[in-house]
Amino acid sequence: MSAKKFRRRKLVCGCCGTGFHTWEGYRNQDQDRGYGICRPCQGIEEARDARQWSGLFAQVRTTLSDDRRRRWDSWTEEKQMAFCLRAIENGWISFAVRSTNFRENPAGRPAKGEFLTK
Ligand SMILES: [Zn+2]
Repeated sequence: MSAKKFRRRKLVCGCCGTGFHTWEGYRNQDQDRGYGICRPCQGIEEARDARQWSGLFAQVRTTLSDDRRRRWDSWTEEKQMAFCLRAIENGWISFAVRSTNFRENPAGRPAKGEFLTK
């Protein structure tokens, strides 16, 4: 039995509109048939994500009390991410995709350090 052979496909990038060939290990990130995300655009997405995360971490950190900030700092990046995702899901913080804007939820704005108690 041989593994399924990789078949190069020609797709159009849904991000920048250029045609490109898929590569081995390519994961389609576009829902539309015949479309995908080209390699340079995937790189840009990753860099932007990383920038957004570090900006979000920095913002969350400023809202914490000293004790909680020490606890936050002891967490792994994965745990900080999980915490932020839960906070976004629960509406404690809102996060605008496609910009670096971060703002605390205006309705029910949490007091300093309240993030970790809920
Ligand atoms: Zn592209």
